[in-house]
Amino acid sequence: MDFQFTNEQSMWRDVVFGFMNREFPRDKLRHHDQTREFPEELYRKMANEGWLGLLIPEEHGGLGMDSDPVMFAIFCEAIGKDSLDTAACIMTSMFTAANVSRHGTAEQRERFLTPFLRGDAKFCISISEPQSGSDAAGARSTARLEGGEWVVNGNKVWCSGAHHPNSCIAMMLRTGEGRYDFSVLLVPNDTPGLEVQKMDTLVRRSLGTTSLFMDDMRLPASALLGEVNKGWQYIGEHLDFERLSIASSQIGNARTALDDTVKYLSERSAFGKKLSDFQVLKHRMAEDQARLSAAYYLVYAAASAIARGEKASALVAQAKLISSQTLFQIATNGMQALGGYAQLPEYDMERYFREAKHGMVGGGTNEILRSIIAKSMRF
Ligand SMILES: Cc1cc2nc3c(=O)[nH]c(=O)nc-3n(C[C@H](O)[C@H](O)[C@H](O)COP(=O)(O)OP(=O)(O)OC[C@H]3O[C@@H](n4cnc5c(N)ncnc54)[C@H](O)[C@@H]3O)c2cc1C
Repeated sequence: MDFQFTNEQSMWRDVVFGFMNREFPRDKLRHHDQTREFPEELYRKMANEGWLGLLIPEEHGGLGMDSDPVMFAIFCEAIGKDSLDTAACIMTSMFTAANVSRHGTAEQRERFLTPFLRGDAKFCISISEPQSGSDAAGARSTARLEGGEWVVNGNKVWCSGAHHPNSCIAMMLRTGEGRYDFSVLLVPNDTPGLEVQKMDTLVRRSLGTTSLFMDDMRLPASALLGEVNKGWQYIGEHLDFERLSIASSQIGNARTALDDTVKYLSERSAFGKKLSDFQVLKHRMAEDQARLSAAYYLVYAAASAIARGEKASALVAQAKLISSQTLFQIATNGMQALGGYAQLPEYDMERYFREAKHGMVGGGTNEILRSIIAKSMRF
């Protein structure tokens, strides 16, 4: 398998990594983590570059990069290199926007996609419910048509970003009796009958996450995305791409965490030596480097497989499983290597460590990923 980037991919890499270093240095996103602020400035700059529309076809105003998963993986590696939370602030909207582009009507595209591409609006996705996370098809919140309107009742949880102004929630709701009979409604977050409650979490402090309560929430019939009872299919369509993007941002962040640790060990002394002169610490870094290389190649192998049009769910699951474990190990070793200083936000390691733990849950837990991998094996 050839892992050489093409000239175009290498140039794109320079462009997005350069952009993130220049426009959104680490001290800014650290500040956003501490203050729980959304990176509005970055979001707008991304919109100005046209990058919010990377997954939207050109005929709908985007750049059409969904046909090149390697280019998209490079983008996610760059936006995640200093913060998985920052990457999520950008990526969460992009996937739902792609769904609206693919299945929405011209009116829905005009109403939701056009302001999104300008950086004036955001999207979020609401699948999880208090009793159903990994078992997403166990969701119970309902939508029923009554006098030409949708009436929605129920309770969603963990809907990331739903509290930000001008956010549209793509809400998966039960519209039939069958296990997978779900539809997706496009719900502006200021819809009467919807209550959005912010949750206080250890991670995703900039994006933020929410509980949603729907009490006879009414929406016009035109709020339906695509067709009735096709919601499960629509949401599953970009699952591999979404998992690939998370894995890409994890290897980006793992590189930064490992570089930070190596720098610290090279600068700090104890017992008359640099910490990096202690072989036990150096070997630990060597082990982390080896694991990171393995995760890196796996991510780009998975991206290449999707690009070739192959069925890549099991390979993508492997990439995300290994990337999340690698980042967690590197951040854990970083916490140990930095001693007490690891506790301070200005060293960033505690932030990487917190976000790394969530990386084993969001976008499919590591247990669910193992089940996907196991299904592809012969037992
Ligand atoms: C910060 C944050 C942001 C989120 N953002 C969103 C969002 O924007 N939209 C959204 O819809 N959801 C979101 N989620 C929800 C997330 O997708 C779920 O947390 C995740 O799917 C796991 O579901 P759960 O937490 O209910 O855990 P559960 O599904 O209850 O799982 C608990 C444990 O049991 C394990 N387990 C479950 N089933 C199996 C099995 N079959 N075999 C082996 N082990 C199993 C799991 O791996 C896990 O370790 C977010 C969550 C968090 C924490």
